[in-house]
Amino acid sequence: MTLGAVLTPEALPISMFVALDPNGQLITIENALRGLACNCTCACCGEPVLARKGLIREHHFSHHSNKESCFIHRESLLHLYAKEVIRNQLGLQLPPMPGNWPASEDKTSWWDFEKVDEEVPQQGFQPDLVAHLRDGSQLFIEVAVTSFIGEEKLERIKNAGINTVEIDLSELLFSKQSIPSEEVKAHILEQTHNKSWVYPEQPLMAAQPATAWLSITPKPPVTEPVTKCIEHRFTVMGMWVSARILPTGSAAVRSWSFNPQIAELLKSWRNELGGEYNPKYRNWIFFPQSREEVLSRLQQLDKQP
Ligand SMILES: [Zn+2]
Repeated sequence: MTLGAVLTPEALPISMFVALDPNGQLITIENALRGLACNCTCACCGEPVLARKGLIREHHFSHHSNKESCFIHRESLLHLYAKEVIRNQLGLQLPPMPGNWPASEDKTSWWDFEKVDEEVPQQGFQPDLVAHLRDGSQLFIEVAVTSFIGEEKLERIKNAGINTVEIDLSELLFSKQSIPSEEVKAHILEQTHNKSWVYPEQPLMAAQPATAWLSITPKPPVTEPVTKCIEHRFTVMGMWVSARILPTGSAAVRSWSFNPQIAELLKSWRNELGGEYNPKYRNWIFFPQSREEVLSRLQQLDKQP
């Protein structure tokens, strides 16, 4: 089962209260000219729509062809709208890049883009947006509502070596705020608690190989809530594997770099001992009752040739 399956609401149809204007931008029925003069198309199927703004029924768009209304899921709408506002604004407020801890009180900063492209295929993956910066560098932007970057995609991003941020819009999925709206736009562009750097990664672990069975209490970055997490580090099959003990008593286990054998191993332990995969943090959660077993297995594997 995926996280998406849990979070995806039963069809939350935004019956046809939004459409695309002649510039391909989302427009609400209130802002559209009446009838065919709105010059709009269906955001779902692309057919011409007219704005029905009569006296009796609630105002809505309908297909010019008279075919049944399309249902646009809020998740798709969020995706579309996030890409639209970032392309229009040519910028984004972002948390500090991993490894940078600005001295200023507000650690976040506004990033300006020269241009933002959609659907530019990369080696083995396609980011939602590719932003071009003035210094010639690129920034990949991923918009996530219920499905977050998985291990394989992460590995491809790391191989590409391009700075990447993920914007988590899941909290807007069930909110009442309309899309498009100024509030949702501000949320997408200006909030930073919902943005995380995928690459480069947070240097949570020291940049040198860990010594066997090392327990450390990492200093949390300034912007993260201060939680004392014990972290155990192991070298399994030549890869660093970290096991953090969460405040709940569960152990969150992940390998520092994606490794199919380690992923398979942790998956088999999950199947055997119970637990879950957390796609957002790309780690395997083992509940308190199996924590010691997992730690002892990792310790046995530690530094085995
Ligand atoms: Zn349609």
